[in-house]
Amino acid sequence: MLNHKDFRKHAHELVDWMADYLQDVENLPVKSMVKPGEIYQQIPAKAPGTGESMQQIMRDFQQIILPGITHWQSPNFFAYFPANSSYASLLGEMLTATLGAQCMIWDTSPAAAELEERMIEWLRNLLGLPEQFTGAIQDTASTATLTAILTAREQATHYSSNLTGLQNTKTFRIYCSEEAHSSVEKAVAIAGIGRENMVKVAVDDAFRMNPEALSVNIAKDREHGFTPLCVVATLGTTGVTAIDPLAAIGEVCKQQNIWLHVDAAFAGTALVLPEFRWMIAGIENVDSFVMNPHKWMFTNFDCSAYFVRDKEALLRTFAILPEYLKTESRGSVNDYRDWGIQLGRRFRALKLWFVLRNFGIDGIRERLRNHIALADEFARRIEQQPDFEMMAPRHLSLVCFRYHPEHITNEDEINKLNTNLLKKLNATGRVYLTHTKVGGKYTLRVVVGQTYVKKQHVDAAWDLILQTCLAVTV
Ligand SMILES: *Cc1c(COP(=O)(O)O)cnc(C)c1O
Repeated sequence: MLNHKDFRKHAHELVDWMADYLQDVENLPVKSMVKPGEIYQQIPAKAPGTGESMQQIMRDFQQIILPGITHWQSPNFFAYFPANSSYASLLGEMLTATLGAQCMIWDTSPAAAELEERMIEWLRNLLGLPEQFTGAIQDTASTATLTAILTAREQATHYSSNLTGLQNTKTFRIYCSEEAHSSVEKAVAIAGIGRENMVKVAVDDAFRMNPEALSVNIAKDREHGFTPLCVVATLGTTGVTAIDPLAAIGEVCKQQNIWLHVDAAFAGTALVLPEFRWMIAGIENVDSFVMNPHKWMFTNFDCSAYFVRDKEALLRTFAILPEYLKTESRGSVNDYRDWGIQLGRRFRALKLWFVLRNFGIDGIRERLRNHIALADEFARRIEQQPDFEMMAPRHLSLVCFRYHPEHITNEDEINKLNTNLLKKLNATGRVYLTHTKVGGKYTLRVVVGQTYVKKQHVDAAWDLILQTCLAVTV
């Protein structure tokens, strides 16, 4: 076992390793190339009987683990949505690990509870959300969306379903667009509502939820005796970053008295920019809202900000009070275990505080605008190249496109061509891109949102794409 003196020594070495890693990460193959089982086979079947030295452990970390890592912090990472980190965030996270505090109730670390309260206020202000909104930091947007649906369910059953179960309630219906994230479907299943009761509302030609179709779906469901419970609108869908029309959806929800939850996991960060506040026109009809600082706000995973209009509904859904958690301060402070699913909670507010202070609002705005400008430039190149086409309207920092040489007209062939192009690109180790399907068409995605990405990386990615598509065949 390490003693105090060894810890100091190894911690210093580790920080040097971390700094070197982040300096050199752009030279590593972005996507791990290992085969299934390759890492597992190298890990002994049993834990060691006697303790091993830090040197041995670190050596194996470098030799066994690192080759199986996909480097999300590489500026050549253009896949999925980013899961950003930053120097300030890492420093905060190191302290969180060091303190090792359980932040379930105010008493178990008052500073954690009160900093979390402030950080939620800072974010609310930063994003332009209404003053009445309050909330808590959750692990992920998936959890926040589940929290929203459970709260809607409780409220709609007059807080009886937690008590007696769902057997005597009506059949609830949940609405989201065809493009909504899979976490919505998972939440509907977990909440006991049943996947079959999730209604996928049609989208328009920009992949946004069609509010008229929503109205029609709701009316039909009422006719059939269902109870419409909740609409989940998405700002920035995972496939193509479509922005659902919140104002029109909100009107429907208000008229129909349906809970409106907004999933802005990725795109929510863009609300820091005043020029993107149009996305939350209609926020006055929103009941709950989630965005992930751990995606585009330079705060390492996990950190998901969940906001609610009605704090009482949230607390009535999640508060449970066993004897061992009774405290004198209860009622006058925030006991965050009552604000969501988990009891034990990490001190996540600390890294967010480090990031917001170290970047400053201006620093965050500058980086976001830079990402969006780089994505713009990339999109212009796609548009100017006759052999490429844009596959969805570009919002924010995601570009959806495909390779489509004029002489190939068969859709299956074009799909195959792009599947092969993506494979070839990722096999170079010089970039990592992922795909989606747009109207059944295989589509490549480039997200310019990584913390350390610069023009040179986007330029290099473009050159690589041009070069690689010349060598790709069906
Ligand atoms: C990434 C994403 C999620 C899931 O986020 P987690 O924090 O990983 O649960 C949900 N919705 C959208 C739109 C996303 O882009």
